[in-house]
Amino acid sequence: MAETTRLPEPLDVHWDWQRRAACRSLPESLFFHPDGERDPRRSRRVDRAKQICARCPVRGPCFSHSLSAEEPYGTWGGVDERERVAILRRRRGARTAAGGHYRPAGRDDAAGA
Ligand code: SF4
Repeated sequence: MAETTRLPEPLDVHWDWQRRAACRSLPESLFFHPDGERDPRRSRRVDRAKQICARCPVRGPCFSHSLSAEEPYGTWGGVDERERVAILRRRRGARTAAGGHYRPAGRDDAAGA
């Protein structure tokens, strides 16, 4: 019998949560800004995206993914790109202050969950 315990997990383990995403059938343009978008239109769009995220059953994994991948664009897990940059900066600062080395956020992070 083949030894499989050292093989990597199937990739869909990391993406299965997307099948339950509240945004799954919604237009990407609600979560990712179009070129040249400015306030107040931008803020209204982000607020609408966050309202959808607030009732999404996979908000935690989505948020964790966005930090792990350091997603540069879009609203993920109810957090927009500006907020995500701030979170990542705070984490880097905290790790540096603690004498540790920076490492990308792990998958165990959760958005308000
Ligand atoms: S939390 Fe928001 S962006 Fe993430 S899967 Fe759910 S609806 Fe989509």
